Amino acid sequence: MPDSFLLSSPSMLLTLAFALTLIAGMVLKFWLSARQIRHVAQHRAEVPEAFSRTVSLSAHQKSADYTIAKVRFGLFELVLGSLVLLLWTLFGGLSTLNLALLGWLGGGMGQQMALLAGFVLISGFIDLPLTLYQTFVIEERFGFNRMTFKLWLIDLIKSSLLGVIIGLPIATLILWLMGAAGNRWWLWAWGVWMGFNLLVLLIYPTFIAPLFNKFSPVEDETLKARVTALMQRCGFAAKGLFVMDGSRRSAHANAYFTGFGAAKRVVFYDTLLAKLSAGEVDAVLAHELGHFKHKHLVKRIVSMFALSLLGFALLGWLATQLWFYHGLGVQPNLNAPNDALALLLFMLTVPVFSFFIAPVFTWFSRKHEFQADAYAVAQTSGQDLGTALLKLYEDNASTLTPDPVYVKFHYSHPPASERLARMRV
Ligand SMILES: [Zn+2]
Repeated sequence: MPDSFLLSSPSMLLTLAFALTLIAGMVLKFWLSARQIRHVAQHRAEVPEAFSRTVSLSAHQKSADYTIAKVRFGLFELVLGSLVLLLWTLFGGLSTLNLALLGWLGGGMGQQMALLAGFVLISGFIDLPLTLYQTFVIEERFGFNRMTFKLWLIDLIKSSLLGVIIGLPIATLILWLMGAAGNRWWLWAWGVWMGFNLLVLLIYPTFIAPLFNKFSPVEDETLKARVTALMQRCGFAAKGLFVMDGSRRSAHANAYFTGFGAAKRVVFYDTLLAKLSAGEVDAVLAHELGHFKHKHLVKRIVSMFALSLLGFALLGWLATQLWFYHGLGVQPNLNAPNDALALLLFMLTVPVFSFFIAPVFTWFSRKHEFQADAYAVAQTSGQDLGTALLKLYEDNASTLTPDPVYVKFHYSHPPASERLARMRV
């Protein structure tokens, strides 16, 4: 290539920046995990003072062991994931796959779709043993797993089909826009992507989630009356509480809110409902309603809109720069579109750089949890919310003594001690 001399320096800079950031990210993640393991292990022998009357020593130690097991496995995943990332990029995996498909299919939409599909399939196969180990070894060892291999397989087939049904049209549309919509394709693609996300959010509670779980209204009449009264007091549609058969897959307990407009709902896992008193159900429900009251979902969507606009604009520029491909170990196509390559390279490399600003996002998330807690305390009983939270943390074997720096990077929910402390004030 005649212009390779001019290209060599920005592409080398990118290679260097990518490699160094990847290494820096690994060092940071290892350091954080080591801190977390050390901190949890140091506090394993004794239940912290504030919980000494509410949490048993055996539950506390189970949480410690579970937390450490998960962090250790996370480190293994990190090493493997970084290796796979390097194989795709600097070591030429993506380039090889691209050239093979180019020779086979010629350059065009079919080749680009095949490249995306090939990448998704190979990544999926690499992930399979990891999720199997997580479910049937780690979760099993701590008594949380309720999945049979058959159910796991059915889930896998269903979610893969769903991925094809939902993913294929959107991928085709975006690739088409990249090729046909001119220099401002990224603005159109952003619009399509946002519309697609909103649509998924809208149909998730009513069409997607029921493919995997059963959702039923609350059965118990007294509980139903309480819940309805609370929802009315908070100005929420009375049909919005559902119980999900989470116990089919796991003993972990949870509650969450989802959807918007007429589809908005609060979902309780049956595993959680079974353990809470009526007052505690009220308190947890009020917490979820607090997320609605404070418009946390809307805020999350708006920030996602802004961030993806930034992302698409960046991709729109990078996709036209030859050094972007060369610098990440890929030979761009000369007489065929490079759009699928650009998409994949972008998706692969962004997380390497974005981990460093993770504390910003988790900080907002933890702030929202505090706000929802405060709303629940104002609407119901702080005492009930406190005991419910402890049951929730215990059922998920969430450690009561996480490392404070690890929390800043990894925790979307504040540690139990901080939440309880705020409630009492
Ligand atoms: Zn919450």
